[in-house]
Amino acid sequence: MIMSQSEAFKAVPVLAVVVPCFNEQDVLPGTIETLGKVLGQLIERSVVAEDSFLCFVDDGSRDTSWDLIKNSGNHRVKGVKLSLNFGHQNALLAGLLSVMDRCDAAISIDADLQQDPWAMEAFIEKYVKGADVVFGVRRDRASDGIFKKLSARAFYRLMQLMGVNIIPDHADYRLLSRRAIGWLAQHKEPGLFLRAICMQLGLQTAIVHFDVSARMAGESKYSLSRMMSLGLNGITSFSVMPLRLIATLGVAIFFLSGILGFYVLWRTIFVGDVVPGWASTTLPIYFLGGIQILCLALIGEYVAQLLVTVKARPRYLVEEELF
Ligand code: UDP
Ligand code: MG
Repeated sequence: MIMSQSEAFKAVPVLAVVVPCFNEQDVLPGTIETLGKVLGQLIERSVVAEDSFLCFVDDGSRDTSWDLIKNSGNHRVKGVKLSLNFGHQNALLAGLLSVMDRCDAAISIDADLQQDPWAMEAFIEKYVKGADVVFGVRRDRASDGIFKKLSARAFYRLMQLMGVNIIPDHADYRLLSRRAIGWLAQHKEPGLFLRAICMQLGLQTAIVHFDVSARMAGESKYSLSRMMSLGLNGITSFSVMPLRLIATLGVAIFFLSGILGFYVLWRTIFVGDVVPGWASTTLPIYFLGGIQILCLALIGEYVAQLLVTVKARPRYLVEEELF
């Protein structure tokens, strides 16, 4: 049987492991060693090709992360250094676009290796069987604190309610084929919400379950405000549901005030016992004032999205490359 080139590629793919790093000097030595081991084994057993590599993206770290990457002494360690802290999603994108033409498939994983790197083989298996996008889904949240657990659940629930199609408990541990990355690259919007975009490429997808452990060292780089902005961005860039809710609310209030208006007219004209009341005057003011402010806030979010989109600033800037 004659194999087409792409099928031949699928047999033993060149794999790039993309690792975004922001101030990760505490975990990097261990991460480089472990990922080197995982990759070495995959190569040894011919699961991935000999020229597979690790690509660390230094997202404007202010510590020695980039030095550790540059001087790792491991020839499979490549890297990209961004000039500033552009944020996790942009760093990830920078890494993916940098490796796109150098590999057949790329797996993204966090630098703290909370996500089990030994699950990578399962990702490759799905890829070889034809999936272009393989989502890593965590088995449980035992390693998370109560706050992270609750906020994560609320986040995925809210996303579902808003009609954003994402897989619960899939973060950014994911395999993308070269084709998937190419398609991703065609999305020029800033603040790209990768896990949702990857769902709507229309490519064949698969799921791999993996275990999560606690962070090896260092602290989480995702503060509450960063998590909230990720969630908010996810909603406003993928769903117009909030705007529809406002519209629905507007219609409901319109009808309600109409009925109340008729009621007041009827009392005034036919009954005539109206006593101008404090409550009936101030309550609507508070009520409508509150709703108006809420609506303005939501509209402001979309205006903000429009603003950054119209500016079309580069989503990241590569300062140095190591390939
Ligand atoms: N990260 C990044 N840029 C940032 C924030 C985080 O590249 O501005 C990286 C970080 O180094 C890590 C990954 O994103 O590899 C996930 O961050 P972290 O583990 O701190 O998040 P958590 O697991 O606590 O949600
Ligand atoms: Mg982490």
